[in-house]
Amino acid sequence: MNVNRVVVVGAGLAGVRSVEALRARGFGGRITLIGQERHRPYDRPPLSKAVLLGSADSSFVDSDLDALEVDFRPGVSAKSLRAGVVETTEGELGYDGLVIATGAEPIPLPGDGPQHVLRTLDDSLELRARLVPGARVVVAGAGWIGAEVATAARRAGCAVTVLEAGRTPLAQAVGEEIGARTESWYDGIDLRLDTMVASVDEGGVELVGGGFVEAHVVVAGIGVRPAVEWLAGSDVDLHNGVVTDERLRTSLPGVVAVGDCAAWWSSRYGTRLRVEHWDTALSAPEVAAATLLGEEAVYDPVPYFWSEQFGHMVQYAGHHPAGERLLYRGGPEGKWSACWLTAEGGLAAVLAVDRPRDLVQGRRIIQEGRRLYAERLVDPDVPLRDCVV
Ligand code: FAD
Repeated sequence: MNVNRVVVVGAGLAGVRSVEALRARGFGGRITLIGQERHRPYDRPPLSKAVLLGSADSSFVDSDLDALEVDFRPGVSAKSLRAGVVETTEGELGYDGLVIATGAEPIPLPGDGPQHVLRTLDDSLELRARLVPGARVVVAGAGWIGAEVATAARRAGCAVTVLEAGRTPLAQAVGEEIGARTESWYDGIDLRLDTMVASVDEGGVELVGGGFVEAHVVVAGIGVRPAVEWLAGSDVDLHNGVVTDERLRTSLPGVVAVGDCAAWWSSRYGTRLRVEHWDTALSAPEVAAATLLGEEAVYDPVPYFWSEQFGHMVQYAGHHPAGERLLYRGGPEGKWSACWLTAEGGLAAVLAVDRPRDLVQGRRIIQEGRRLYAERLVDPDVPLRDCVV
């Protein structure tokens, strides 16, 4: 099919990278980029780090939308989709190629009391203004975002309580065993595990099972859901986000999906993956653009992400559910890495804490599907690449 008019819905990283990738492949037709937010595209990782800590005020993506000749429409939302037409808050837009890049939105806590979420630049600036010395801050959720917010709040001199439903921090993301290794990082913070918020009320939060934690500031860090409500009733298959094949095609012809909202078929892992991390939003658009333009391309990455919390750089590559055995390089008190090995001795995933070399080498080993000598691997002084069979 000849593509002349592309509409990109969602002006986050995945949206803007889709525009760039289309132009880089020589697409000379019309591109319209619509974004619910009033800002031009920006990166989200600094929102819970440099912006929240006060060392930056914004994180705009270095992308020249004029030079890309894109019709950028900030403050416009897609409301619904039918074949060939996106209905927006400012009328209909016809397309013959469509990129769905609407990302994800935070899940709020129950209750009528005031609460913050952290997804947008405005969220971050609003929250930052509330993180003042002595403020009592309750963070619900000890996942990636919760840990980073707690880091910033602590550094700002707040009295921080973190409420986590699981038995350890990060349990949902990487399992309790790894999560337990991060518990000591919460030094100076009132970390309450096995604790759930029943509701946010005026002046604090009510806990499931009774009890009230007073707070000036309540932050919900309990996860996100794909922002796909506008696709309800369309012919796009939805199941934990927008369902795509390994070429990022949705069930509707001429429509691809990328970033946090896309659940793509991973040939590498033989399962569907939806990864809510920056590297996916950065890299998937290359494949989506190629697919839209009728080229052969497959999206088959080794997922990667990082988090900066409590002075530690945590980096992860791979897909640990594919692993059977968990081995450590180094004790929990210093710099360490965790390696998940498959039944065949391959590396399923690596999580590195302040050991960036392990991450780089591990990521390559996973990509190349190499096997490792387990007995060498547990010696943190042996470079990971020297553990390859
Ligand atoms: P988004 O960034 O969510 O962009 C989607 C855009 O679409 C949004 O602007 C939204 O307003 C817009 N939109 C939604 N619905 C509509 C609609 N109907 N019509 C029009 N527009 C719409 N990842 C890491 O790997 N490491 C990190 O350290 C890290 N830190 C993070 C910190 C924070 C605070 C947050 C929020 C995320 C962080 N991430 C991190 C995750 C990473 O930022 C996301 O994976 C990435 O932003 C996803 O990009 P996206 O373009 O798919 O979605």
